[in-house]
Formats: sequence, C-alpha cells, structure tokens
Amino acid sequence: MALENPSQIADREYHNSSKMTEFLWRAIQDQRTSINIKQSINQPLIEIMKKKKDEDFKQAKFEVIDKLTSEQSRYIALACEKGASSWLSALPLEQYGFALNKQEFVDAIALRYNFAIPGRSETCVCGEINTQDHSLICKKGGFVSIRHNTVRDATASLLEKVTYGVETEPHLLPVCNRTLPSGSNISDGARLDVAARGFWTPLEEAFFDIRVLHPGAMSNNNKSFGENVFRP
Ligand SMILES: [Zn+2]
Repeated sequence: MALENPSQIADREYHNSSKMTEFLWRAIQDQRTSINIKQSINQPLIEIMKKKKDEDFKQAKFEVIDKLTSEQSRYIALACEKGASSWLSALPLEQYGFALNKQEFVDAIALRYNFAIPGRSETCVCGEINTQDHSLICKKGGFVSIRHNTVRDATASLLEKVTYGVETEPHLLPVCNRTLPSGSNISDGARLDVAARGFWTPLEEAFFDIRVLHPGAMSNNNKSFGENVFRP
C-alpha cells in the first residue's frame, strides 16, 4: 500500500530536512532581516533527494516482491494496475459512497491482497469451502450477479446523464429466420443489459452488455494483465 514505516525512514527524512532548511538557519544565525526564498532553495539538491527516495522505494518494493508466492505477486501486479488504487486516495465523500466504515475498509484490503476476509462463513451455500476466489465464481453465492448488476446500474445511471431512453435489461426483438454469428442469443425473451438512445449517433439505439472479470480466477492464470486482459 506504499505506506512507509516512519522509524525506518526517519534518519533519511531528518537528513533531507536539515539540508533543505540549511539556508533558513544560516539566515537566522547571520541575523538577516530579509531572505529570497526562491533563490535560496537548492533545486538540484531537491532532485537528488527525490531520486534517492524513489530508488529506496523501488528497492524496498523488489525486496517485498521477492518474498511473495506467484499467486500473491499476481495480486500485487493487479493492485499496481492503473486506477486500481484510486479508491485508496479518493476523498471519503459520503454522498458518492466513498466513505468506508471499518469493516468495509478491512474487506476491501483483504480483496485487494487476497487475504482471508475476517468473519466470513467457512462453507458456501453450495457446500464448497468458502474462499475469496470461490465467492467470486460461485453462481449460487450471489456475488457474481451482485457485481454484474452494480456495474450495469452504474453504467445506466451514467448513460442517463448523456443519452436518453435508457433502459436496463430491455427485451430484444424476436429473431425471425435470420442467421446470426455463432454464440448469439436467439431465444425468445433474450435481453441485454442496458439500452440507450443517441450514444453513437443521434436517435440510434445502442445496446450494452456488461461483463465482470475475476482476474484471480484459475481460468485467468495464464493470461497477462494490462491492456490485453482488460480490453476486448
Ligand atoms: Zn459456492
């Protein structure tokens, strides 16, 4: 989580701070009555300090990664994905649901690092052992649909702001004697997740299918992360 241990960085930070404020205590010693801060700041020194700090941080990161199992390092790689940490630095605004209580925060951290979620039941309703991985793939447990429906509803509410005629789970027209690509859902009563008018072109109705991914699933073990996995 990139949280540093103050007792480990105290010496370096004290050294940097002393160097950075040297011009201030010198001015005090010399009893100067004015000081040009802009000219007094040692910019090259700041760059050197930043570089050293980055190098120390990278070194610490590699030391941690070396100690991890391949499964753990997979979760770390996921946590390093672009946007994967934005919830950690978001302002905890209640109106947007960004304010997490203690349990929500602990659960979210457990999901992020594949730790056991405290207080979860040992067995799933389907009878299998209830692990984090299982809860995200079990069709009876409910989380598969909850995740899907949450993304569907968030997508629909965002589309409502920029398009019109937004519907969730709209029925598609019956397919009458037409050949469609294999895998197409041609059954009566087939539905898609979201429909909105005016998304691609004015008046045209566009349909959206929402798919959620569990990157920690066994079936994704041999796939690489990043653009290839997250884009169709
Ligand atoms: Zn289950």
